[in-house]
Amino acid sequence: MKRISIIIPAYNEEKNIVRVIADVLEKLEGISSRYDIELVVVDDGSKDATPRLVMDLAKKDPRIKYIQFTRNFGKETALTAGIMSASGDAVVMIDADGQHPPELIADFITTWEAGSKVVVGVRNSHRGESPVKRIGSYFFYKLMSATSETEMVPYSTDFRLLDRDVVESFKLLEER
Ligand code: UDP
Ligand code: MG
Repeated sequence: MKRISIIIPAYNEEKNIVRVIADVLEKLEGISSRYDIELVVVDDGSKDATPRLVMDLAKKDPRIKYIQFTRNFGKETALTAGIMSASGDAVVMIDADGQHPPELIADFITTWEAGSKVVVGVRNSHRGESPVKRIGSYFFYKLMSATSETEMVPYSTDFRLLDRDVVESFKLLEER
């Protein structure tokens, strides 16, 4: 059976983490007969109850793996640690604060099964974003696509799926 790894970076998420983990697992119930599910929660040096809450869940549920940093290293490092330890044929990363809708993971998987090696969540609403940030992102994407050969998808997020091939290529990169 193919395995799906879900990576959740968490920094001071005591208010959200239990609900988000439950929500992710619930939204994956529909595919759990077809895939092995592995959740890799990376605690990025939280100073609140996040580590204890996740450890308690991990003790009860063998699908939940847990990595704890000694201090805060930042989300990118937390995601990298999660990717390094994930064993899935596909690796999905999702935020711990409930801002990424977990019901989309099943769609990511369907798109992956149809042949996509990377599936990226794109924001379609900008609620709560200041006009300055909106205009800033608009020009950022304009400038990036004008100066780079790689196409950038505007408003893409790091709610995304990576195929195992992509994960292995990523692991070969040495820069941080
Ligand atoms: N996060 C992390 N380390 C940090 C900051 C954030 O692991 O130093 C996690 C955080 O818990 C959340 C995700 O990264 O799951 C996104 O963080 P945040 O909501 O602050 O970022 P934004 O929504 O602005 O992209
Ligand atoms: Mg957030």
